[in-house]
Amino acid sequence: MRLSKFYMPTLKEAPQDAEIASHKLLLRGAFIRKSASGIYTYLPLGYRVVRKVENIVREEMDKAGSQEILMSAIQPREIWEATGRWERFGPEMFKLKDRHEREFCLGPTAEEYFTTLIKDEVRSYKQLPLNLYQIQTKYRDEKRPRFGINRTREFLMKDAYSFDTDPETMKASYYIMYEAYEKIFDRLRITYKIVEGDNGAMGGNMSHEFIALSETGEGEIAYSLKDKYAATVEKAKVIYEAGEKEEALEPEEIETPNCKTIEEVASFLGVNKSKCLKAVDLSVRGKPVIVFIPGDRELNEAKLISYLQVPEHEIEMMSDEDIKKSGSAPGYTGPIGISKDVRIIFDSSVTKLSNLVVGANKEGYHIKNVNYNIDFKGELAEDLLLVQKGDKIEGSDEEYSFARGIEVGNIFQLGTKYSESIGATYLDESGKEQNIWMGSYGVGITRSVSAIVEQYHDDYGIIWPMVVAPYHVIITIMNPKKEEQLKLGEKIYQDLSQAGYEVLLDDRDERAGVKFNDRDLIGIPIRITVGKRAGEGVVEYSLRSDGKNRKEISFDEAMEAAKSLIREELPKSKL
Ligand code: ATP
Ligand code: MG
Repeated sequence: MRLSKFYMPTLKEAPQDAEIASHKLLLRGAFIRKSASGIYTYLPLGYRVVRKVENIVREEMDKAGSQEILMSAIQPREIWEATGRWERFGPEMFKLKDRHEREFCLGPTAEEYFTTLIKDEVRSYKQLPLNLYQIQTKYRDEKRPRFGINRTREFLMKDAYSFDTDPETMKASYYIMYEAYEKIFDRLRITYKIVEGDNGAMGGNMSHEFIALSETGEGEIAYSLKDKYAATVEKAKVIYEAGEKEEALEPEEIETPNCKTIEEVASFLGVNKSKCLKAVDLSVRGKPVIVFIPGDRELNEAKLISYLQVPEHEIEMMSDEDIKKSGSAPGYTGPIGISKDVRIIFDSSVTKLSNLVVGANKEGYHIKNVNYNIDFKGELAEDLLLVQKGDKIEGSDEEYSFARGIEVGNIFQLGTKYSESIGATYLDESGKEQNIWMGSYGVGITRSVSAIVEQYHDDYGIIWPMVVAPYHVIITIMNPKKEEQLKLGEKIYQDLSQAGYEVLLDDRDERAGVKFNDRDLIGIPIRITVGKRAGEGVVEYSLRSDGKNRKEISFDEAMEAAKSLIREELPKSKL
């Protein structure tokens, strides 16, 4: 492609609202354009990268035995009703009506759609296992679209679904996908960690997330330096370490004026925060729920969501009004003497603590020397705590290490949750009807593009790995008005293009500085500069990843060097 004809409107400056490198560079390099909040257009350069990512994903999915189909982005309401997710997805789902008032959504994912698709046609164990996938646009009305194409309201996802006869074969299908994902992200040159995930509202019991490491990532992971263990902070197990248990003392009500927070109570009484019981007053589906945890810890919302099996948007903080209605006082809620209508949940760590300070359920008072099992008891949840620095990894003496990252893939064992509610069954060998066991597997195609840029850039622009680079080579003609430069540039361009290499020819009538800046910005891996020595057939050869190392060599040598590097980097291609 000749840059004089190419639609590549690069920008000198990134818009104010672009916060992270990938967002800025993809905009400036004319890969993407924003059309509305969280909605983007892919320009020629950007779309070439997207298609390359797509193709790697497609090849690995095909190799793993999954079969590609394409379903509509528009999904009828009825199929979502069966699983209750029409309601549960909440405001994140884009909903619409047709002219006959029939309701639809723009699919945020497609577990229901795929299960409905196969349910009448897969009848026998002989048709299983089955794995289908699609690469298709998904829609989620995200609360906070941000970071360019990292978190958008419309994005490209590869979603796959596996259907099996029993839990064992479901697991086998799951690990086939797990390995395919390793191959995908290895091929995309992404540095990533695989972490145990949180199943959230998806249900089921085992999941892994593929996290591209990046300081700008929205997700945080906790991991071991010694072995492969890693988990999202949402999932990382907390083994709460309490001191020796003390002998229980006699409870005593004490006056604690203006002590509504743990900090205030602890400092007023001169005790450690871990001596105080923290109450988190919630309203879950409109009903009061109070969760008690040690005063020195934070509640992990994700663990609570999966414990309660209620979607995030149905959990709110309880209003002061409702706290009063429950027979308590804001800032003074405690487990003793609260209304029976309130569901009270204790994190199991509370049982390890002794002689606690708890709210007395009246303004200005706490009770001290209170012990679980003696003065109060109730529903225990094993672990609702957010992991923090200093916590140890289960079964070892090692403390967690922490890193940030971008979730680029997610795989789930779903069990029979979807097949049961949709009625997707098969007849086993003895002719008995059984539920189908499922898994679901997503790769964020467009998000992966931004993750790659986060990992591969410098101050001047993007440094694309060859596998996803929009073009392999860029030839810069320093002065296209000079006949010998134009001719030599054209010749190299023609030769390489005809041999199947992907080449950009910068034949624009622009200052050399402008051309060099653009070429750094758009990050093409191999650069051939045709300048003053064109008459002798000499060009300059360099790599975007190593710009300082420039060689003056004959154009033949430059072409050979380019070809052999590309072939080396793309051993699977036909070049
Ligand atoms: P997140 O926690 O980041 O919101 P998710 O866990 O809800 O993502 P999944 O339902 O697991 O996402 O979707 C599969 C993949 O699709 C994700 O791993 C991610 O790569 C991609 N993805 C999800 N939401 C978005 C989005 N808003 N924009 C771009 N890609 C997305
Ligand atoms: Mg996910």
